[in-house]
Amino acid sequence: MTTRPLIFTDIDGTLLDHYDYSFSHAIDVIEALNERHIPIIANTSKTFAEMEKLQQTIGFNSPFISENGAVIYIPIGYFDQQPQDTFTQGYYWVKEFCQPRTYWLELLTEHAPAFDDDFIGFSTLSVEALCEVTDLSPDNAKLALIRHYGEPLLWQGDEASKQAFIALMTGVGAQMLQGGRFLHVGGDTDKGKAMKWLADVYVKQYHAPVITIALGDSGNDTAMLEAADIAIQIKSPVHDFPVLATKKQSIKSSLYGPKGWAECITQTLLSSSDESQKNQLTFGGA
Ligand SMILES: [Mg+2]
Repeated sequence: MTTRPLIFTDIDGTLLDHYDYSFSHAIDVIEALNERHIPIIANTSKTFAEMEKLQQTIGFNSPFISENGAVIYIPIGYFDQQPQDTFTQGYYWVKEFCQPRTYWLELLTEHAPAFDDDFIGFSTLSVEALCEVTDLSPDNAKLALIRHYGEPLLWQGDEASKQAFIALMTGVGAQMLQGGRFLHVGGDTDKGKAMKWLADVYVKQYHAPVITIALGDSGNDTAMLEAADIAIQIKSPVHDFPVLATKKQSIKSSLYGPKGWAECITQTLLSSSDESQKNQLTFGGA
């Protein structure tokens, strides 16, 4: 039986350039994958609003994983049957992996009033303020603020109070994740769990085994890369490769961002010397 490849990719710093957010160096490879009907599934910290815009820009019509594994959006009709445990919202079948944002906001109000002066949450952050602390344009900052499954905080207090706050919130059931700029309050989700769930859906719908190929550049990609059959680490201009604990195949790009993305996908999937094998979408299995 033919094994079908699935590509799960981080967006920022991986498919999009860290500095100019361009994916132009990956376009030829994306087209080659589309010709071979190999799905490219975004797996990102970005919001639904950001991703819906980006899917259109890049020309993706595949499912995407949003807010660091908290939710998956599958275009209605993408699979023959609606996957189990999903509900319909707009043009999508939606799979949730944690409580909604309102739950985490209430948890903050209930348990952390003593820390009110120590942080600014996204729910009270203005578009202008978000632009100031990120490189986002005002239009993209608006989309980044529309979150559904967690609350990023801009920490203003000292390190000791931050550690006390993290302990408090962890104690009442929140998962606390320190990102590059923000401290995230949310549920027990990660990109790896969401990838596995979606890969299982593909197996059921294809009636065929799949091989998962994951690409990412940062610490929040580690769970996805460690869960993948093939892990591809994309070189970052701002930090080292995170350490992976995986015995499976892993590859490090020599080029940055989308150039590294194209380099590694070409090596892994597209550069077979056997032309007939390349055209059969086969990969590995017998
Ligand atoms: Mg990234």
